[in-house]
Amino acid sequence: MFSLRNIVKLKYLFISVIALAFVLSTLVGVYSTYKGNMKLMQEQTLENNRVYALKLAETVDKFIANSTNTLSYSATEIANNFNNINKLQEEVNRLYLRGDTFSSVLIVDAEENALVNAPQTLGEAGKNSPFLKELKNYDKYKPFISDPFISPTGRKLIVISMPIYDEQGAFKGVLSGYIYLYESNIFESILGQHPYENGSYVYVVDTRGKIIYHPNKARLGADASENEVVARLLNEKHGALTFVNTLDQPMLSGFSQSERTRWGIIVQTPYDAALSMVGQQVVSVLKIGLPFIILSTIVVFLLASQIVRPLERIAEISENSVKEQEMKKLKEIRAWYYEVYKIQEALIHSFSFLHGKVNTLKEETSIDSLTNLLNRATLEKKIQLLTEQRKDYTLVMLDVDWFKSINDTHGHIVGDKVLQALASKLKESLKENELACRYGGEEFIVVFTETTVEEAYERVELLRGNVQQIISPAGKPLTFSAGIANYPLHGVQMKNIIGKADEALYKAKENGRNRVEVTKV
Ligand code: GH3
Ligand code: MG
Ligand code: MG
Repeated sequence: MFSLRNIVKLKYLFISVIALAFVLSTLVGVYSTYKGNMKLMQEQTLENNRVYALKLAETVDKFIANSTNTLSYSATEIANNFNNINKLQEEVNRLYLRGDTFSSVLIVDAEENALVNAPQTLGEAGKNSPFLKELKNYDKYKPFISDPFISPTGRKLIVISMPIYDEQGAFKGVLSGYIYLYESNIFESILGQHPYENGSYVYVVDTRGKIIYHPNKARLGADASENEVVARLLNEKHGALTFVNTLDQPMLSGFSQSERTRWGIIVQTPYDAALSMVGQQVVSVLKIGLPFIILSTIVVFLLASQIVRPLERIAEISENSVKEQEMKKLKEIRAWYYEVYKIQEALIHSFSFLHGKVNTLKEETSIDSLTNLLNRATLEKKIQLLTEQRKDYTLVMLDVDWFKSINDTHGHIVGDKVLQALASKLKESLKENELACRYGGEEFIVVFTETTVEEAYERVELLRGNVQQIISPAGKPLTFSAGIANYPLHGVQMKNIIGKADEALYKAKENGRNRVEVTKV
C-alpha cells in the first residue's frame, strides 16, 4: 500500500530540516544585516551630511571673513588718500586682481557717487552699479553683506560693503566687492566639490529661502522656502533630517547656517542612492560568504549522512528479514551514538531470541522424538545434498529381527525402550559428518561418508556385535539384519540407493537374519 512512511526517509528529512534551518538563518542574517546596515547607513549619511554642511558653512564664513578683512584693510589704506583718484584706482585694481575673491570692486564717495571701479572694462556701467540702489536698503556707515540681487545684465550677485573713515573718523565713502553667484566663483570651488560619489550634492539658500547656489543651474533663483529642510534650516540653523523633496524623492539631508551671511547650506543624499549602496554591500557580503555557505552545506550534508547512516543500515537489515547473515551485518554497524547503540542492542537481542526460537522449531521438525535420531524427511534432504555435491557415501538399512514378538510379549512401551537403546548404540558408532536416522517403525538407516563398501561392511559387523550386548526383554541378545548400497557404485539417484539397500536387507532376512548383505554390482 502506498504510504508516506515507505518513501520518506530519515536522511532526507534530516537534511531537509538542516537545509531549511540553514536557509532561514542565512535569510535572517542577510535580512538583519540589510536592515541594520540600512539604519546605520541612514544614520551615518545624515551625520556625514550634517558635519559636512557645518564645515561648509564655516568655510563660507571664513571666506566672507577673509574678504571682509581684506576690504577693511583696504578701506583704512585709502581713507587718507581719498582725494588721490589714481591711488583709489590702483587699490581697486589690486583687490580685483588679487585672486578669485571679487568679480568686481567699486568705491563710492560719501554722496554715493561712483569714483573708481575694477575691472576697468566695466567703464561707466560699473559706476552706475545697481548696488547704488541696493545701498539704500542698508546702513552704509557699517560693514554689511548684501542679500543676493540682480544686476541690469541679469547677473545675480552679492556685495560685501565696507565704510571708509579717515583718521579723524570722518565718513569718506564706501568700498564694495562684488561676488557673482551664478558664475564660476569662490562658491563653486568651495561647494561644488562634494567628497561623495553617491549622488550627494550641495545647495545654498539665502535668508529668504531662495536658491543661490545649486549644481543644477536651472534651480538657481528658485524659491525653496516651502522645502521642509529649508523651513527647518531657517528655524534651527543646524541639524539633519530625512524628508521627501518636491520631486517626491526621499532625501537624507544635513544643513547648517552660515553665521555671517545667514545663508543655509544643505548637503543631501538621495535615500535610494544610500540604499543601493547597502544593497551592494549585502550582495558583496553574499559573494564573499558563498564559498563558505557551499562548504558548510557539504560539511553539514556529510555530518547528517554520518548521523543517519547507522539508522539507515538498521532499516535496510530489518527489511531483509531476520536472516543469520543479516545478524552479522547488524553487529558490524558502527553505532557511534546513544540512540542507535540502544536500537542496535535491542535488535540484536530480539534477533538472537528469534533465531533461538526458529532453530528450536527447526530441530523439532527434523528430529525423531523417540530416538533423537534424524527423521526420514531430514535424512532424505541430507542425502540429496550429498548427491548434489557429488560426495560418495555408503548407505546401510537396518531392521530389528523379530521385533513384533517383543512388542507382542512385553508391550509397546518396552518395545520403545529397546528402540531407544538401539538408537544410542547406532549414534555411538558414528564419526563426524555421518548420519543415523529412524527411517520408520523399527527400521534405521546409517550413512557413512568417505568409506569404502568393505570398510562399511566391517563397521556394520562391528555394530552388530555391539548391539548384541543389548539383552532384549526376552532374555535373548538383540539382533538386526542390514543391507548395504553405495553411491555411486549402485545407483546415481538416492531412491535407487535406498531401494538397493532395502533389497540387500531383504536378502539378509531371507538368509537367516542377524547378518549383513552388500548389494552386488
Ligand atoms: P522381522 O523384521 O525379523 O521379519 O520380524 P518383525 O517382527 O520385526 O517384523 P516387522 O519388521 O514386520 O515388524 C515390525 C513391528 O514393529 C510391527 C510393529 O508393531 C512394531 N513397531 C513399529 N513401530 C513401533 C514403535 O514405534 N514402537 C514399538 N514398540 N513397536 C513398533
Ligand atoms: Mg520392519
Ligand atoms: Mg523387523
